[in-house]
Amino acid sequence: MTAFRQTLRTAADLADAGLISRTRAAAIEAVAERYAVAVTPAMAALIDAGDPTDPIARQFIPDPRELDRREEERDDPIGDGLKSPLAGVVHRYRDRVLLKLVSACPVYCRFCFRREMVGPGKSPTLSEEQLGAALDYIRDHPEIWEVILTGGDPLILSPRRVAEVTAALGAIPHVKVLRWHTRVPAVAPERVTAELAASLRSQKQAVFVALHANHPREMTAAARSACTRLVDAGIAMVSQTVLLRGINDDADTLEALMRAFVESRVKPYYLHHGDLAPGTAHLRTTIADGQALMRALRERLSGLAQPLYVLDIPGAHGKVPIGPGYLAQRSDVAGYIVKDAHGAPHAYVDCCALPSTGTA
Ligand code: SF4
Repeated sequence: MTAFRQTLRTAADLADAGLISRTRAAAIEAVAERYAVAVTPAMAALIDAGDPTDPIARQFIPDPRELDRREEERDDPIGDGLKSPLAGVVHRYRDRVLLKLVSACPVYCRFCFRREMVGPGKSPTLSEEQLGAALDYIRDHPEIWEVILTGGDPLILSPRRVAEVTAALGAIPHVKVLRWHTRVPAVAPERVTAELAASLRSQKQAVFVALHANHPREMTAAARSACTRLVDAGIAMVSQTVLLRGINDDADTLEALMRAFVESRVKPYYLHHGDLAPGTAHLRTTIADGQALMRALRERLSGLAQPLYVLDIPGAHGKVPIGPGYLAQRSDVAGYIVKDAHGAPHAYVDCCALPSTGTA
């Protein structure tokens, strides 16, 4: 495995590192001019440059198809802007807000749903004044129970900065849960130091780290150790994964990924259907494909290892489960036909729907 020292940020960097051929560099640079590029040393080391279908390369190395925009694709696929009362805050659901601290990431994912907002030259990181206003907003809304820290990737901030944000939110009594969304434990596990883990801890709130990883190869020994450092420090972990064509859209890969999460004490949480981000059609699956994969996972994995397959409805209408149904209402009698994990149907009589035989 090649050891890389620095994050690769240009087509020339990728060519120098042997991850793309010189003949592809011009086409890739054209994409890099439109959408940010960053491949950390940990991810670069995982890429098999001889494999044109390498699932790590497909996540981070630009593809000329990114410049093909479909009519249905949107700059802001899940409608953050429509639900943003002030800079850095998205208030889509009553009891929780997103607090977008930064617009930078350690890696730039080719399928990112915020690709028009993250990266150099996109929305700036929150200023002190903007962060103060965002904290005032949270303080002034007692219905906010959970704050989801996101970006960009908020764990690129220094431990000192993370501790400041944790302390500021800790001083708001109605905020009971902090959830940090990040790719750092997998793509830059060396950043997960004891100091960072300590900075995430709160005396006042339950703290979760939601790890975004999409392929079992991302769960390296170093990534698993980073998760151990967080969990041992008292941080609960959940996962999120984006369903991606040619990367993880097969049952063996998803099964291995979910097992890797659980083995690392990361509870599988969300499997996201790909958002309608510009230039990402080549990476999206159909919903029917996603449902078939969820049926296969139900057959193979315990409940502990099951993610929830969800779609963020375009236009800021929120996230809903879109997994396969197992229950169909019977038309002849009160009750249902329930399919088991292998697809076999079984009759179920719904006792509450039966006529009462009691006399009281
Ligand atoms: S780390 Fe998250 S926000 Fe950053 S590019 Fe990847 S998906 Fe987008």
